[in-house]
Amino acid sequence: MHDGPSTPDASSKRPLLLWHPRRWPIWEMPSHLLVSIFVVEAAMAAIAVIVVLRATIPTPHEYIEAATIAGLALFTTELGKQIERRRLRLTVPHHIEFSGVWTFCAALALPLVLTIPVVALIQFHLWWRTGRPRVAYYRSAFTMTTVLLACVAAATVQEALSPELPPSNVLSIAVALLVYTTVNTGLVSGAIAMSSPQPSLAVALGSWEDHLMELSTLSLGAMAATALNIHPALCLLVLVPMVVLHRSAPLRQLRAAAETDSKTGLLNPATWATRAMLALKNSQTAGHAAGMLVIDVDYFKRINDTYGHLVGDQVLQAMADALRLQTRDGDVIGRFGGEEFVVLLPNLHGEAEELRAAAERIREFVAHRQITVNTADGPLTVGPLTVSIGGSITTAIIDDQAGFDTLLRAADDALYVAKANGRNQVRIAGETDDRSNVSVPAIT
Ligand code: GH3
Ligand code: MG
Ligand code: MG
Repeated sequence: MHDGPSTPDASSKRPLLLWHPRRWPIWEMPSHLLVSIFVVEAAMAAIAVIVVLRATIPTPHEYIEAATIAGLALFTTELGKQIERRRLRLTVPHHIEFSGVWTFCAALALPLVLTIPVVALIQFHLWWRTGRPRVAYYRSAFTMTTVLLACVAAATVQEALSPELPPSNVLSIAVALLVYTTVNTGLVSGAIAMSSPQPSLAVALGSWEDHLMELSTLSLGAMAATALNIHPALCLLVLVPMVVLHRSAPLRQLRAAAETDSKTGLLNPATWATRAMLALKNSQTAGHAAGMLVIDVDYFKRINDTYGHLVGDQVLQAMADALRLQTRDGDVIGRFGGEEFVVLLPNLHGEAEELRAAAERIREFVAHRQITVNTADGPLTVGPLTVSIGGSITTAIIDDQAGFDTLLRAADDALYVAKANGRNQVRIAGETDDRSNVSVPAIT
């Protein structure tokens, strides 16, 4: 797993940058991140030296196993390099490396003095053949180091639990697998959390699907290590499930890319409408009401005009994070257009007050929060900004698109009233406001 390529960066456009260390993009990173990366890489270098100093000379059999693992890894990378390049183009924070099959296999089957060069070779070849054109050198180096550290940690723990190589004890393999994924995910998540100004825990830790995919990869690695012990040719049996798993990965990423808005990671309007309708129907079937909120950032154009669109984009991401934080698990959040968001809230009791409370929680959170964004001149604090929110709640059973559109329109009309009355406020369809005596249009 590594921290995905994010944007194509300077290293891809200026290949000769390698000879101009002062212009390396790494110097543009915040110093705490730079120090952390340096510490991680220095730790790995120190471990490698200690391993070499303490090692005994590997047996010919161990050399054959090392060559088999390296050969199969290089072969599978060559086989899947088109798919891998396509996957790298789809930006995801956690990117599962299928080479994990062979790096984990090396950690289990080989003595550390062979594991380290074999894993370094596998990682270098993968980078050379797939990632090199679009991933910054320092990112790739960090990725390789996290994989090496994960291998060393897994091998050390498994050796302490059951000293024979390769291991035959299921428990020690399971613990080694857990250690590998914890060290790798921990380092990658830490780097993601440190490099984003206001990290969301969900993004930093990765999704369950990512972890399941990594679990499948490492399980195949454990099977390859066991097969290798019986006969190197048996490792070929791991190739078929590995290729099938690899081929299915872009489909999952493409589906996610087609359903979400790339800027904020929220659902796009079409997917939101489908999911929101489903949640609404399920809620009604369970005998509950549902609410709709339309949320619009106040005077957002001024942010773009003052700081530029790139800052505006990061503010939109922060708004999306705020919505994720301030809504419940079953709520369906989407980005509707520019700076406008929609939330469908299922399982309400049916009182407007309940919907108002949910909307007020979002409004107040945004109104009290400074947003820190990255700019070329360093971190910039924006805000607090405000949002206006219009809401509507179901008063009768909705079972068709027209009913859904009516609910949405009522929330949008209520938003219009909130804007017209001074912004930074919540209006719910059908309510009369005691402060201004303005009546908000009811659902018609
Ligand atoms: P109001 O309080 O009335 O909502 O004022 P506003 O400035 O927020 O509303 P207006 O509709 O005038 O401006 C919305 C702005 O949002 C204009 C548009 O340039 C900007 N916008 C739309 N999509 C994006 C985007 O993806 N990124 C950025 N940075 N800006 C966007
Ligand atoms: Mg606006
Ligand atoms: Mg707007």
